[in-house]
Amino acid sequence: MICQKGETTMGSGITAKCEKCGFKLSLYSGIGMLYPQHYEEMILKLVSGGFGRGVERFYAEHDHVGVNFEEKIYHCEECNRYVTKPCLDMYVLDKPPRRNYAGWSSALPNGYYKCIMPDELEELPIGRKYIHRCYKCKKPMQEVNEREFLEQLDNGKIKCPKCGGKMSEPSLILWD
Ligand SMILES: [Zn+2]
Ligand SMILES: [Zn+2]
Repeated sequence: MICQKGETTMGSGITAKCEKCGFKLSLYSGIGMLYPQHYEEMILKLVSGGFGRGVERFYAEHDHVGVNFEEKIYHCEECNRYVTKPCLDMYVLDKPPRRNYAGWSSALPNGYYKCIMPDELEELPIGRKYIHRCYKCKKPMQEVNEREFLEQLDNGKIKCPKCGGKMSEPSLILWD
């Protein structure tokens, strides 16, 4: 079963295997149960430049920024590579976010805001879209919807990133 957005805070994933060379793909999407805690760790990484200067600067230049750290699947159309990465799209809030996740230990210095869930953010206009680039060919990667990926897998349209063979044997995973 694939979890629907908002139903539960559990991530889902897909594995598939190449019929020709045996290469196994494991892709994940969504957020886990520990997202609020994860959010704080990711903000600390962001403000210390761990996701690049562009993101770091945008965060510093705006008063109230929410970041979507939801895991998403990205595909390079150039070399056919699939990866799972945190989304990193940023949103500017007109007021500080509600601090409604009390109880989580906060590693954040004063002035940094606590967790805002991705579905709250996605209702806002986007402030800075993060372009994920393929580390091999440097081309922008496209976001892949898990449902579409599964359909294409069922139709034999997903090709092995290593040898171009047909990927099959899909299985679904839940993670938290
Ligand atoms: Zn293969
Ligand atoms: Zn590529």
